[in-house]
Amino acid sequence: MHCPFCKADDTKVIDSRLVAEGGQVRRRRECVQCGERFTTFETAELWMPSLVKRDGSRVPFDEEKLRNGMLRALEKRPVSVERIEMAISQIKHKLQSLGEREIESLQVGEMVMEQLKELDEVAYIRFASVYRHFQDLQQFREEIERLSKK
Ligand SMILES: [Zn+2]
Repeated sequence: MHCPFCKADDTKVIDSRLVAEGGQVRRRRECVQCGERFTTFETAELWMPSLVKRDGSRVPFDEEKLRNGMLRALEKRPVSVERIEMAISQIKHKLQSLGEREIESLQVGEMVMEQLKELDEVAYIRFASVYRHFQDLQQFREEIERLSKK
């Protein structure tokens, strides 16, 4: 970390402790060059990548939208709210662990389909038919056949 006083590149940590119930690290640092001391607070920053849509526009990740899309596919299906929430947090975790600033919204769609496939096949087919824009009954049949082979 840069020294805020002389802008030297090299500073050393002389003390480090957890604060804010472990959510933050307070570090006491000393500049190797000018000897000034200063304190930093560091928090693990988990942020969601932006989504790049088919038309190239970018939108922020929207958890509500994700949830609504999944709930629509899962309407009247025997899947508990807990399992849906678990699937959503798995998708979020995956997005965060990618560590990318931007991600194709298609990729998120694939993640949703992966989760739905585990949760409920009817919901998966519903979602896939909208998402993949099945053009005709033939494509629909192929997807169902592909599923039933597994
Ligand atoms: Zn300095």
